[in-house]
Amino acid sequence: MTTKNRYDRRDIRRLNAMSVLDQLRNQGPLSRAQIAQHLGLTRAAVSNIVSELLETSLICETDFVAGSAGRPGLLLSLNAECACIIAVRIDLDSVTVALANLGQEIIWRKDASLDPEATPTECLQRAETLIDEGLSVGHKAGLACFGISVAWSGLVDHEAGKLAYGPISGWEDISLRENWEERFSAPVFVENEAHASAIGVRHHESTRGADNLVYLSLGVGLAAGVFVGGSLLRGDQGFAGQIGHIAFTDNGKQCSCGKRGCWVTEIGSLAIIEKLKAAGVRLPDQQHVQEDWIGYVTELAESGDAKVASVLNAVGEQVGKGLAGLVQTFNPSLVVVGGRLRSLMKYADTSIRSTLMDETLPHMKETLEFKISDSDDDNLAGCFATVFEVFMKNPPLKS
Ligand SMILES: [Zn+2]
Repeated sequence: MTTKNRYDRRDIRRLNAMSVLDQLRNQGPLSRAQIAQHLGLTRAAVSNIVSELLETSLICETDFVAGSAGRPGLLLSLNAECACIIAVRIDLDSVTVALANLGQEIIWRKDASLDPEATPTECLQRAETLIDEGLSVGHKAGLACFGISVAWSGLVDHEAGKLAYGPISGWEDISLRENWEERFSAPVFVENEAHASAIGVRHHESTRGADNLVYLSLGVGLAAGVFVGGSLLRGDQGFAGQIGHIAFTDNGKQCSCGKRGCWVTEIGSLAIIEKLKAAGVRLPDQQHVQEDWIGYVTELAESGDAKVASVLNAVGEQVGKGLAGLVQTFNPSLVVVGGRLRSLMKYADTSIRSTLMDETLPHMKETLEFKISDSDDDNLAGCFATVFEVFMKNPPLKS
């Protein structure tokens, strides 16, 4: 059997357009001559591709630069204002919708609370109303929507675009992509929240080279996004990274998944609240606890409260111990802790770091970097990056 492996003119034009976009993304603004030189193409070929990309507004001409023959040329850049992307974060008690330009700069966002007792339909209707608002803002600015990307804290069937199962929320088998692509007439991508966060961190300029990366997302739930050799580890069904339900403590506390002693029952939000109470930390009333206990305890930690420091130190050791297991499994160069408890974990940084390093094989920690994320929005960044990468691989050319 022979395989036909020939490209026609249209394929070559598309590949060249992708190469030009890739150069502008990685190198920043370039002149036509510089692009020709970098890609080994003729000036005429580059000129043709650039004309088409300018016509479709995917790139734009910016500043003048001195040419090699002394003649000024125009620099070309990706046109951040040619389209918009919508990111949606659906958590147990809140939904965030953000609108960014193609340069992934947020130009509009709204956060709304969700009633944890509300049905999935009611919660998703809330999200849909916010998406409508965001699309309307984009539309008024003349920005076509290149995609809507969703981060959800549960088991996600990424291929099918389904919310497969929420271990805490109980949501099950919701065909989000199918429903929303019909409703919003835009491509829809669905990702597990920790996976989205890992994508966001890896896409960030300062950590782009991290091909082997573990992102631990810590909140009411606990999950990881893992990159191995530059690829996101999804597993057979797309559910890889549900490390919150790894057995951690013998005869431990009851977990929402039905088992006992899962890692999340020691370091998740509910566990930390219990530990703070047991240590004698007076938390605000229950309603307040639901809404903003993290901010309240973070302020106590900042003020040097000894009881809070002791609890966070002990939790940090349990975070570090579990992370060491992940490090020895995946041998990453970078470990990031983020999620809803990020601001609190800053005060457990020393404890996490020292336990992680103590429990990791000497040779594996030589190049290991550990950090607490400096953003609450890694998952939103991952949503934007997902759509941007699809655009880069398949730019909407004329034909
Ligand atoms: Zn569990």
